[in-house]
Amino acid sequence: MNPILMSALLIVGLGFFAWTASRRLKLMFAAKAPADRFDRMGDRVKAVIYYMFGQARMFRYKAAGVAHAFIFVGFMVLGLRTIILATRGFTGPDGGFGFWLFNDSAPLGSAYLFLKDIIGGFVVVGVSYFLYTRLVIKPRRMTLSSEGVFILCMILGLITADMFYEAGGYIVHGSADASVFHAKTPLASILATILQAAPTGLVRAMMLIGFWGHTIIVLTFLNFLPFGKHFHVITVLPNVLFSNLDGIGRLHPVPDIEGKLEREETLGVRTAANFSWKDVLDFYTCTECGRCSDNCPAASTGKLLSPKQLTIDLRNHMRANEDRLIAGDPVATGDADDSGAGLTPLKEDERFQLIGKVIEPEVIWACTTCGACEQECPVFISYVDKIVDMRRHMVMEQGEFPEQLQNAFRGLETVGNPYSFANEQRADWAAGLDIPLRSEKPDAEYLFWVGCAPSFDDRSRKIAVAMAKLMQRAGVDFAILGPEETCTGDPARRAGNEYVFQMFAQQNVETMKGYDVRKIVTTCPHCYNTIANEYPEFGGKFEVIHHTTFLHDLIRAGKLKPTHEVNARVAYHDSCYIGRYNGIYDPPREILRAIPGVEVVDAPESRDRGMCCGAGGAQMWKEDEPIRDESAKAGAGKVNHARTRQLLNVLPSGGKPRAIASACPFCKTMLSDGLADQGHTNITQSDVVELLLRSVEGAPASVGAAEESA
Ligand code: SF4
Ligand code: SF4
Repeated sequence: MNPILMSALLIVGLGFFAWTASRRLKLMFAAKAPADRFDRMGDRVKAVIYYMFGQARMFRYKAAGVAHAFIFVGFMVLGLRTIILATRGFTGPDGGFGFWLFNDSAPLGSAYLFLKDIIGGFVVVGVSYFLYTRLVIKPRRMTLSSEGVFILCMILGLITADMFYEAGGYIVHGSADASVFHAKTPLASILATILQAAPTGLVRAMMLIGFWGHTIIVLTFLNFLPFGKHFHVITVLPNVLFSNLDGIGRLHPVPDIEGKLEREETLGVRTAANFSWKDVLDFYTCTECGRCSDNCPAASTGKLLSPKQLTIDLRNHMRANEDRLIAGDPVATGDADDSGAGLTPLKEDERFQLIGKVIEPEVIWACTTCGACEQECPVFISYVDKIVDMRRHMVMEQGEFPEQLQNAFRGLETVGNPYSFANEQRADWAAGLDIPLRSEKPDAEYLFWVGCAPSFDDRSRKIAVAMAKLMQRAGVDFAILGPEETCTGDPARRAGNEYVFQMFAQQNVETMKGYDVRKIVTTCPHCYNTIANEYPEFGGKFEVIHHTTFLHDLIRAGKLKPTHEVNARVAYHDSCYIGRYNGIYDPPREILRAIPGVEVVDAPESRDRGMCCGAGGAQMWKEDEPIRDESAKAGAGKVNHARTRQLLNVLPSGGKPRAIASACPFCKTMLSDGLADQGHTNITQSDVVELLLRSVEGAPASVGAAEESA
């Protein structure tokens, strides 16, 4: 067509893109925290194939998933077309050059043209859906910026330009009496049939505009990407490839905390430079689809935290300070030495502190660490680790955290539990049950790890008692640690107090290894997650079994026989820490189904879409953050109230009494408070183990009192 023009376009377009992309790359590596994501490459490649090429998570929102799949496949197919057209720029005014096997008249070329033509049609459908969504439906989860519309128009422009080039070519290069309809490009042929009536000069102009327009739009699009959310077109592959394969349940430890404290090194994340390169890649990759915030219990109940906005704010902050971060300016990175003369002006230094300047503290403290955002994010952006890293800085370095957490921290540090009971009382719940301590029965097959709530909290003690009675009935050989057990450290860790967590982790691992503990059963999902997923990094490798799995196995083995009817329609609430964190969804439901008279129902928000009860991430020990959005999706207010309402929505009045079941002591507390606070005094809240005990031992005909009037 025109080698000089094509060369100029490519040099300018690709050259500018290379410069911008190199800046983004340098900014990524201005983030200094380590992130080793080069292990298990086989699994990583599988994740790319399944989640990126297979678009697996996109279909959690069905219509948007299908529309996106059309555009995604279109991008891959049309990418080759872009290369073909670029090569034709060097081959004379009428083109005619094919790329390798893709000459238009070769069989493979014809097959490709057919595919490209049809896929182009699907892309137009996908783009039209998104334009309709953005301009007409306007879902509140999405960022409805003009950038999105501009990009969609560019994609439409690409397809249209290529169609005009193809259709125009049939008319300009075909003989006058030949048909312009070619079965290998049905859509372009329809356009050619329409254009046939126009003067040839005009058609030729349209063909050339289509040809050059395609290349110009592609290069403009490419250069636009690094400046907006559509950078994900490029970064999504590495972001999925280097995603966290360890799951949400395992936070990375802070190594050598004491040394860091002594050397006054930064703990957690204070400035953007304290993130890792992978965190910055996350920021680049956010598509602003809002699926995270749409499922976030904090955002859904009107709190300031919106995971999507958190990412956008951090990304914008990094871009705004790109030059200084790349240059390693010690003020921007937080490394400025303020110990001598020539102090960094405080205000300047503060500008780069994230918390309070870029991210409000109440954003950080609203997170329940439920992981719903990470589960939903189609491009595998993580949140819990970043939020906990910022909490670590606030707690361990600044000593700033919600006042109510002070009591829990004091209890943990002084007596080994957040309830502040003397740890000697840890086994008081077991009085009269004839349960041996591990020190009395060191060879017991199972250690029953009780946890703080079932040890000290009256409502949760019933869980421990029911579990112990069922294990005794089934002939399980178990013992407890009693006063030798302390908190696992989970609330401290999720609240950012990594120092205290590591203290507990080391102490508990040492205690259990001292007794040669191999198998642990626990009723607490938080203890389960911490011991199973986090203690291995502290030398504690145990077989940990959640009580629902354990009891389900005992029922299947015929060692527990739920024979007495428990007449109730039960909505089961999934605890985030055994459900989303550890994939345990079926055993609790199977236990309930094994109880005669129980009818199990699920809320639409259940299993991996289940909403947090509001206790996780140390929220149990503090009040909800203030309401900032009265029109929140799940109703402005407390998370436990919203979750209770969701569960009640599947428990219509009439018929059986209504009950809510859970499998976590903290969920029990939050949901029973949610029922009581909202006046549902006749609806029972029980742990699955309590219902099972009723059925095994004999129980009243129903779990509730009278049926609640609607
Ligand atoms: S972990 Fe849960 S509460 Fe925290 S940001 Fe994600 S969805 Fe929201
Ligand atoms: S973090 Fe993920 S889910 Fe949330 S807006 Fe960005 S891409 Fe969407």
